[in-house]
Amino acid sequence: MNALKSAILDTYIATTWPWRTRFRAVQSRVGMAPVMVLFYHRVADHDLTPWTITNDDFRRHLDWLQAKFELVSLAESQRRIATRFNMRPCVSITFDDGYAENCDQAIGELNARQIPATYFVTLANVVSGEPFPHDVKLGMNAPPNTIDQLREMVAGGNIEIGGHTRTHADLGAIHDPDKLQDEVIDASQELGELVGQSIRYFAFPFGQCANLNDVAINMLRKHGILGFCSAYGGYNFPGDDPYHIQRIHGDRELSRLRNWLTVDPRKLAAVHRYQPCYTRLQEAVGGPA
Ligand SMILES: [Zn+2]
Repeated sequence: MNALKSAILDTYIATTWPWRTRFRAVQSRVGMAPVMVLFYHRVADHDLTPWTITNDDFRRHLDWLQAKFELVSLAESQRRIATRFNMRPCVSITFDDGYAENCDQAIGELNARQIPATYFVTLANVVSGEPFPHDVKLGMNAPPNTIDQLREMVAGGNIEIGGHTRTHADLGAIHDPDKLQDEVIDASQELGELVGQSIRYFAFPFGQCANLNDVAINMLRKHGILGFCSAYGGYNFPGDDPYHIQRIHGDRELSRLRNWLTVDPRKLAAVHRYQPCYTRLQEAVGGPA
């Protein structure tokens, strides 16, 4: 972010600070404090794509987050949404895709600080070792995690592995139930078997409203997945639908993160929660459940 943009953002935060302080105080007092979930992708110090943050910046994020928020697991975030009660703004950390370089420093940093995280993995890439399709498009070769790295994360007890499809497909564009079943359910089950931990949560690739799919969401529910994550921004509040956890981008610019996580009134007003249509599976796909 250039100096001018940064100065404008700082001014905006300062101007809206009294509102933010009041909002936070009122929401906390009535047990309605926001439950915020961040998503990161890749923590590395070279080939800085829009979905990469440097190790130093990631540490700066953690320092700031630890100073300002309760850092809780995704399951605990979901519990606070479901029980309609949260006294203090809290944050959960997640990662998408499964980049090997995250194990250079970032995962160790989380473990050392005992910050829980959920790590959503695209199965085909960690099995084949091929780079992710969005990196191939950029001519980049950022290696995915190995299965051994994922097992090590599980063994550490601090990181939970979640599903992120087989091929990083845009599930919003898939209407064939067999293909959805493979991307969403079969891939998650295979991933769970490979890493030695059952998969409880799922994140939709790309995560915008157009990339979500109600048939896939119903499959997740039917197969016992506890919840799914989107990635279009947005806050969760106690009493929201706990099956759908909205996430905010872990933007490398700390000032942007500071703006969002202290509850940006503009973001609060502009982002509308996607409402899944929950049905029984046979109604959704026209076949036996
Ligand atoms: Zn992804």
